[in-house]
Amino acid sequence: MSRALAILKDVFGYHAFRGRQAEIIDHVAEGGDCLVLMPTGGGKSLCYQIPALLRQRAGHGTGIVVSPLIALMQDQVAALSEAGVRAAVLNSTLSGAEASAVERDLLAGRLEILYVAPERLMTPRFQDLLERTRIGVFAIDEAHCVSQWGHDFRPEYIQLSVLHERFPQVPRIALTATADSVTREEIVERLALQDARVFISSFDRPNIRYRIVEKDNARQQLLTFIKAEHLAADGTHDSGIVYCLSRKKVEDTASYLSSQGLNALAYHAGMDAGVRQHHQARFREEEGVIMVATIAFGMGIDKPDVRFVAHLDLPKSMEGYYQETGRAGRDGLPANAWMAYGLGDVVQQKRMIDESEADDAHKRVSSAKLDALLGLCETAGCRRVRILAYFDEASEPCGNCDTCLEPPATWDGTREAQMALSCVYRTAQASRVHFGATHMVDVLRGNASEKIRQWGHDKVSTFGIGADRSVSEWHAIFRQLIAHGLLVIDHGGHGALLLGESARAVLKGETQITLRRQASKPAKSGERTARGTGTRTDHTAGMDEDALANWEALRKWRTETAREHGVPAYVIFHDATLAELARSAPDSLTAMAEVPGIGAAKLERYGDAILEALASV
Ligand code: ADP
Ligand code: ZN
Repeated sequence: MSRALAILKDVFGYHAFRGRQAEIIDHVAEGGDCLVLMPTGGGKSLCYQIPALLRQRAGHGTGIVVSPLIALMQDQVAALSEAGVRAAVLNSTLSGAEASAVERDLLAGRLEILYVAPERLMTPRFQDLLERTRIGVFAIDEAHCVSQWGHDFRPEYIQLSVLHERFPQVPRIALTATADSVTREEIVERLALQDARVFISSFDRPNIRYRIVEKDNARQQLLTFIKAEHLAADGTHDSGIVYCLSRKKVEDTASYLSSQGLNALAYHAGMDAGVRQHHQARFREEEGVIMVATIAFGMGIDKPDVRFVAHLDLPKSMEGYYQETGRAGRDGLPANAWMAYGLGDVVQQKRMIDESEADDAHKRVSSAKLDALLGLCETAGCRRVRILAYFDEASEPCGNCDTCLEPPATWDGTREAQMALSCVYRTAQASRVHFGATHMVDVLRGNASEKIRQWGHDKVSTFGIGADRSVSEWHAIFRQLIAHGLLVIDHGGHGALLLGESARAVLKGETQITLRRQASKPAKSGERTARGTGTRTDHTAGMDEDALANWEALRKWRTETAREHGVPAYVIFHDATLAELARSAPDSLTAMAEVPGIGAAKLERYGDAILEALASV
């Protein structure tokens, strides 16, 4: 293990392993197979990079890393090269000549780590190449891509089981941040990892603050949120991602934010590929860009300093929500996950499931996954407890989510629930057709519209009995009844509501219903900042004037260096490393080597320039 620690220090500049990293590295370096489940930002890369280096140096051969995303591979290889590792990438972006050069290096044993796209790996040509090469380890990153139920399914991943058949003596490490048990079992089965050890880390991301607000005017709410928590006094703002369901909404939202003076870009699969890539590159390389995107923008974003992820539409599942929000705060510093959610979202997602071409079994799974997410949105308890429970992890209320910070008031909604359920029952009985929530609210509030009169719903006994509550209050009630399973959205019925199994007991007065009162006013932002929510000033918190001046000088140096090397700034040094340099202002290379994030290669490459930058302040 001491050799692994030496590499951690020397190459990566870190002083200690995190969580289960040491165990995992030990296991793989010894030649064992394993499956690693670790949240985004948990430190998965080192779990295969260090064993790859250890095994390569022990003469076992090159570590081969299978990774589905080109941008991710390039970032990783750039970062490894910066750290002095002989790493390369083989994917479709290389010219024929460049690819041949990489292949020659591989055959000659000159590479320590090679990143390969799955479709490239499975070509007969590359398989032949592997037969003639010494291979130390196979790492399969984003292993959940083998899951057909999942959102990132990649058909080429299914074939990766061939690796085990052809190279049984080479250890394999599969890694993912998707942790639900169904996906886990699928990975084990499809990659033939039955005998592999499974390492499960806690999925908690304590630095992320979860918040789910009731949708009112979502764009306006988003703007208020960004301004309150992520905008600095000088008009610059943090990097963030805003997810929307449709391409049109992505474009509209991006132009809206831009019109409000924010640096926002759009990203979706329907855009011109060149523009899309340009936007992605700007997001990666510049500071303070807000990417408004569909989920086409996602996997492989390992920008460490994304300070917020916002959802303007409901994701499809808890896995989706957790993975998307997990892109915030990979550097471990405070970050926000913010979502606006309303009744329309539920109806829209249900409809998308119904109208999809999937078979019934798949639709049932999708529906159950959506229900779990609704439960999260409507819970009056801690959001984090709820999320972690979904991933089979028990926890205590976190103190860093909206419901912990401002516990929602609850109220006895039994009477209202009875009104709503009975309205669903009566109207369906009167017209033999089921209707959606909007119609129910009209009936309950006694709104004698043409549609209502046409169906005779102004004659049912529930007409007008809920006139004392507003439309939005009723929407909140219906959402919660759906989330509790008392009402079910009909398959194929365009949002039509049916009574759930447990509705009868409520109608008979046998069950009490406690509902969550919606927070009417957003909490003051000043209070949040005081608690340490992500703002761009975090790195400089507590710095004195000297340190601040150092920080500015170092940032300037880093921007220039990153531009010269054609890599994002964080590939040179993370903000946290830069801040530590600014604070401690080392006056020698020996002192600098103690700063976390500075390994031997970086010390040699940049040490003098940093001393110079610090001296010039
Ligand atoms: P994942 O792939 O699991 O999302 P990464 O491998 O990208 O996470 O690691 C997340 C961040 O944590 C990176 O910036 C990485 O350099 C840092 N990191 C990982 N392990 C350690 C460690 N032992 N000590 C300090 N920083 C670490
Ligand atoms: Zn909480």
